[in-house]
Amino acid sequence: MKSLIIVFMACASLAQAATQTMKTDTCNNSPVRYTIQHTGGTQFQINVEFTETQGRFDVGFHPSDAAPQGEADFITNMTARDQTGIWHTVVYIGEGGWMLPEADTQGYTALRYTLNAEHDRASWDIGKEEIAYGFDDAFYFVGQAVLPIDYSWLDCQFEVNFDIPTNWTVVAPWQTTGDNRFTVNGANALGRNIFVTGPDLQPNTTELGGMNVAILEQQVFREVAPVFQTLLEQSIERYVELFGSAPIKDYLVVFGQDERNDGGAFAQSFGQRLPAPLRVHEKLMWARSIAHEALHSWIGITIRSETHSELQWFTEGGTDYLSNKTLFHIGQIDANDLIFITEGQVRRFFLGRISSGPISLTEAGKEKQRNRQLVYGGGSLFHLFLDAEMTAKKGGGSYEALWRHLYENSDEPYTFTALMTVLDDASDGAASEIYAMLNGPFNLNAILVRMEQIGLPTAAFGPDELLLRFSGNGCSGSRETHCIPDFLAN
Ligand SMILES: [Zn+2]
Repeated sequence: MKSLIIVFMACASLAQAATQTMKTDTCNNSPVRYTIQHTGGTQFQINVEFTETQGRFDVGFHPSDAAPQGEADFITNMTARDQTGIWHTVVYIGEGGWMLPEADTQGYTALRYTLNAEHDRASWDIGKEEIAYGFDDAFYFVGQAVLPIDYSWLDCQFEVNFDIPTNWTVVAPWQTTGDNRFTVNGANALGRNIFVTGPDLQPNTTELGGMNVAILEQQVFREVAPVFQTLLEQSIERYVELFGSAPIKDYLVVFGQDERNDGGAFAQSFGQRLPAPLRVHEKLMWARSIAHEALHSWIGITIRSETHSELQWFTEGGTDYLSNKTLFHIGQIDANDLIFITEGQVRRFFLGRISSGPISLTEAGKEKQRNRQLVYGGGSLFHLFLDAEMTAKKGGGSYEALWRHLYENSDEPYTFTALMTVLDDASDGAASEIYAMLNGPFNLNAILVRMEQIGLPTAAFGPDELLLRFSGNGCSGSRETHCIPDFLAN
């Protein structure tokens, strides 16, 4: 839920690397080959074959106490083969980067290193589903945490081959070309995806709205997997109905055990973690997370921002708002759940305004974790108000039609200005007005007045204690389902 990075822009050093001069014929029409060999225990030997390199390789960089160099702490013995076949030690330069010695003249064509898959010994601020973790007797990896990449390879074709014990398999959202062999189009699909390898993996594959969805869970969730599957099916079917199609062909969803609820969405996959055993009374937590991450395939991955941070408030807020509305629509949550969720969105905005200070929602996205209350709370409220305004002016379904329009015109990423133009055209300027109000001087009462106007009267004691009721369809303030304002119940 917290994280969504479309391209490798996870940290300053990576962004810097990506802006280095790029050659136009980087791949020589031949794929970059990664061979991942399990050599016993938690160790893997990884070989990378290529025809050209700029001499620098990077993985994600998320340092922690137990792993001061982040993901790079689990990669050792890196060497590179020059044109004469001699292997040279590769120098680690910090922040997840390595540099080949005298790369200009040596004509390097291969890299190899040891991957020590012991990532569970560190704790990861962004969540272990964004990095790697032990998956029963198997291993869960996110590409960019374990497969160093040369940034001149962004548009290359990749082959990923696994050399693994006979009782192991690989589960990945990539196109299969043979036993444990895959082809991957572009560095984003290589790095921003999950793959799992090891024994006893039993993915369940189902076709939903033209999308092949593989669902894989740790053993502790195997019995309840049908619950996840039903929820995913109903959510995805609704999303396909809303947007008109599925944005991708192959999709992987992985459920892992953890103490907390969280999830991360990638190019063609998402990783969810939650406490085990699954507790039915916590459904509101894990169901929201599943519906949210699945929706990111449309919002955030396909409808995306030219500058990653600029539209975080819009994509995260929109994903949150529309996924919750969807859960109600498909009958997975009830009116009381909707009250709880909406109260939470208002509260998050109030607390976020106070803790982040007078910054815009766009600025808040630059430091999403620090400003997460403002990004998610403010973003969700933007969509709540926009939906209400559009429904009042343009009729039921107009907000959903706007999403479909954004999706159908998402060949190129959106800038803030381009997006707001589309939103204002569709809402007669309501989008800019709502955005300005949320960014204006913090006025708690103004928000409460607006909530009342849209059929969600809300009482507040300070910024944090809230009581919300429904006053749609002539109700004066109720928790009854028939009192939910039409725009929200749609
Ligand atoms: Zn999200």
